[in-house]
Amino acid sequence: MTDTPGLARAVGRGLRQCCPACGRGKLFRTYLKQVDTCDVCGAALGDIRADDGPAWLTVLTLGPLLVAVTFFVSFAEIPLWLSLPAATLIVTGAVLLLLPRMKGAFIAALWVAGRKGAGE
Ligand SMILES: [Zn+2]
Repeated sequence: MTDTPGLARAVGRGLRQCCPACGRGKLFRTYLKQVDTCDVCGAALGDIRADDGPAWLTVLTLGPLLVAVTFFVSFAEIPLWLSLPAATLIVTGAVLLLLPRMKGAFIAALWVAGRKGAGE
């Protein structure tokens, strides 16, 4: 591993679900479970606990979008049988798409700060 990247670069790598240290290794081995160590640079990532941070960040990011979707659905002349399932799919899809990226960014920020997570 060369030098430690800055916060913005590490968070960018986390958003791409890559190792915050090198940007080449994968950060997750499953949907939300991070790898113990980076396959490329060996950075220890498994002990970093993001806890509720990614969920909080996802809600904070999607909140304004969801308000807009709710207003659109409320005022549009779309039948309820169509608008409700469509809004549900959009919201669920957005959350599923954004949550691992937010977790990656959060883990990267904690990694830069040198934190291991709750309890330390
Ligand atoms: Zn790495």
